[in-house]
Amino acid sequence: MNAKALKTSGTCNCGCGDATGPKAMYRPGHDARHVSSLIAYLENDVADGKKITAREIASLAKQLPSAPLQAKFTRAAQRFAANVAAKSAEKGGEAA
Ligand SMILES: [Zn+2]
Repeated sequence: MNAKALKTSGTCNCGCGDATGPKAMYRPGHDARHVSSLIAYLENDVADGKKITAREIASLAKQLPSAPLQAKFTRAAQRFAANVAAKSAEKGGEAA
């Protein structure tokens, strides 16, 4: 359940390992990349046959350092979960 990325001072929070300025959480644009990587984590869960739960979405959102970013992730994750649910209802869970 724990993702690798703990905040290290001066390193981009998205997990890419690039250096940032002392006060920056991310390289420019990498906040979006961090959101994408958490969505990819959910995609892996789906590929493994797991269901996405609201609890899991909330738990992943906590890895993001700001409320707007958490909200962005939550919206994207809920949309993704809804798409997965719709697809599996149609097709019986066939992976893409
Ligand atoms: Zn980064």
